[in-house]
Amino acid sequence: MSDPALHHPVLCCPTVEAIRACVAPWRQAGERIALVPTMGALHEGHLSLVRQARRQAERVVVSIFVNPIQFAPNEDFSSYPRQLQSDLDLLATFGIDAVFTPDAGVMYPAGFATSISMAGPAAAGLEDASRPVFFNGVATVVAKLLIQVAPDLAIFGEKDFQQLAVLKQLVLDLDLPVMVQSGPTMREADGLAMSSRNVYLSAAERALAPGLSRAMQAVKTGLAAGGTAQALIRTAETELEQAGFRIDYLVLRDATTLGEWHGHSEGRLLVAAWLGKTRLIDNIAIAPVDPDGQIKE
Ligand code: AMP
Repeated sequence: MSDPALHHPVLCCPTVEAIRACVAPWRQAGERIALVPTMGALHEGHLSLVRQARRQAERVVVSIFVNPIQFAPNEDFSSYPRQLQSDLDLLATFGIDAVFTPDAGVMYPAGFATSISMAGPAAAGLEDASRPVFFNGVATVVAKLLIQVAPDLAIFGEKDFQQLAVLKQLVLDLDLPVMVQSGPTMREADGLAMSSRNVYLSAAERALAPGLSRAMQAVKTGLAAGGTAQALIRTAETELEQAGFRIDYLVLRDATTLGEWHGHSEGRLLVAAWLGKTRLIDNIAIAPVDPDGQIKE
């Protein structure tokens, strides 16, 4: 049977040659090209980035690739949700110009021998502490995508805040000629950050999951009221653990460096926690504190 994706109204490019041939005339015509890299199982978070891309570029390419090298053997690569056909149907309603859909053989042909190894924000002791192969896998695949598609603009979500910092560093360090932009985190009505992995949650876990963003908001509100970060975080951790979360980290960091936050710069509260077999991550902005100790809103 022929691949249904090849007959879809959205132009599907499964090879590097195909996406390059697709993009070349746009580039020649001087059109601005935006790329939104994804692993598919698209939700409103992805779509908000696609809309952002649409507003800023004449041509929008979405890539869909579940990148095997960013998953450790004990992680969810084989169970990660894959729904190419419905993703393409959704993208067809957005006036996307092309979808790049390489498979693992296209991305990593036999004999593939290169890996981008990153320190700096990739070694901040957050996601990297729990997922040691993750950022090298992400950096390698995103570098490849940026070289393959050669967009003017690439858009990533703040939902994966450390990843965003890592990718900004990657583009800077490798002099990749692309502008990196970020989009805000899209949330369900009850505050849960949208994620392709939310489908793993049981009904009972789904009911508990918004506790994560509520706990972060409580820390933010407490800081604005003059509380100390350490005490507020400890309280939030206790409440989350009592609710059934297993916390990997809940920390307040400098939003730019991801290093220690000293209060007078933009801060970021970042969390990763397990509910049953599902690992959830989230983060929110924390305003700088005035020299007199007041949060600047
Ligand atoms: P993923 O498919 O999970 O690799 O995500 C693809 C892109 O969508 C990444 O840049 C993510 O940061 C972004 N993204 C994922 N979830 C959200 C969300 N809830 N709001 C905004 N962007 C998101």
